[in-house]
Amino acid sequence: MPTALLIENDAESLKRIARLFTRHGWEVIEADDGAAGIDIAIDRRPEAIVCDLLLPRISGLQVCRAIREKLDTARIIYDIERDAVVEAGGDGYFVKPLKWEELAKILNRPRRPRRKLTPRQSRALKFHPPSTRIKFWGVRGSIPVPGPSTIGYGGNTTCVEIRTNGDIIILDAGSGIRELGLDLEKEFGSAPINLTLLLTHTHWDHIQGLPFFLPAYKAKNSIRVLGYEGARAGLATILAAQMEVPFFPVSWKDLPGTIKIQELKRMEFSIGKVRVRSRFVNHPGVCAGYRLFTKEGSIAFLPDNEPFEPLKLKLAARDGIHPHKARAQAVVQRSKLVEFLKDTDVLILDAQYTDEKYQEHIGWGHGALSRVVSLALEARAKKLFLFHHDPAHDDHKIDEMLERARFLVVESGRQLEVEAAREGAEIWLSGRPSRR
Ligand SMILES: [Zn+2]
Ligand SMILES: [Zn+2]
Repeated sequence: MPTALLIENDAESLKRIARLFTRHGWEVIEADDGAAGIDIAIDRRPEAIVCDLLLPRISGLQVCRAIREKLDTARIIYDIERDAVVEAGGDGYFVKPLKWEELAKILNRPRRPRRKLTPRQSRALKFHPPSTRIKFWGVRGSIPVPGPSTIGYGGNTTCVEIRTNGDIIILDAGSGIRELGLDLEKEFGSAPINLTLLLTHTHWDHIQGLPFFLPAYKAKNSIRVLGYEGARAGLATILAAQMEVPFFPVSWKDLPGTIKIQELKRMEFSIGKVRVRSRFVNHPGVCAGYRLFTKEGSIAFLPDNEPFEPLKLKLAARDGIHPHKARAQAVVQRSKLVEFLKDTDVLILDAQYTDEKYQEHIGWGHGALSRVVSLALEARAKKLFLFHHDPAHDDHKIDEMLERARFLVVESGRQLEVEAAREGAEIWLSGRPSRR
């Protein structure tokens, strides 16, 4: 019986892939992190290895290279579409969810003979970390919910770090920014930190971590805060307000770091070499979604966004407007959003509610799972991250929603990789950027 080693830290994906192999007469061994995977591969010499790219601590590509150095019999198959996989010694790659036909094709293909590399070639194959990385520091909506039931996906509110070309861009300042601040200070030590904080809006779950962001307390650092005017007051007034005396002991103006707040007026601007496009989304008050174009691909960030149609229909019923008219307006708005998101490499989208729960929360400004998936499919995104998890959803519930989202993709017959955003997870962009 041939043996397959699955290196994957997502329990649901692991179960799914294991089922595929066992159904076709394979024995399956499992490893939930890269280091263990390497040890098991060398020890057990399986015929096939399927490895996830997003592993904690050590990336799938590093695992691939390490195994290839020691073992030339196994086929190594990865779960992400990228040339780097083949360069790292993998035999093939796929986009989740994996189908047996695709897998069988790679397994039945004659293996390429191992090339003897010249020193120059092997230097060229050496691992270079990509210059664009995304890291989730807070993935939750509304309020932080730490505790044993949320330990898998994390309890902190919205904060995402992007490193590209040496620039640091932080998307939103929910409670997750506190840990990020500690991490940055550790990394930079006495060296100055220059960063840009890009805010989607000023609801509390997107700014509440700012008073606890350590780099703001060091004179060596420069922080540029970008965002649009709030619904009732300017951006600077709102940010300072949460640090006024009744709420917080240190006032905004007394922070020692150089902090410049810049209210955005245009819908297209640049941060360093990154071009940014923005669009106001369907959420109470003023709330922007951003799309960042890096040289290694584009990232769209819409942490709070509600589908147009149900809200339009609800308001139409209240105001005595014909549903046809409301539906037509929703179609136009949605197609503009699809255009805005077209061919995004990484799409981080508000998926707070299940479809059922959304029915009770129309007008609250958040996403409903099946509409989130259909939006991503229509926009032809490559990878979708379910984001802004509901504070009432524990790890098990989010696993369930992820499984449902993947099922919807399979049912559509199209290709889309779906993950649920997880605190601490890092994504590397090193593929061919989309043309837009
Ligand atoms: Zn929010
Ligand atoms: Zn909000």
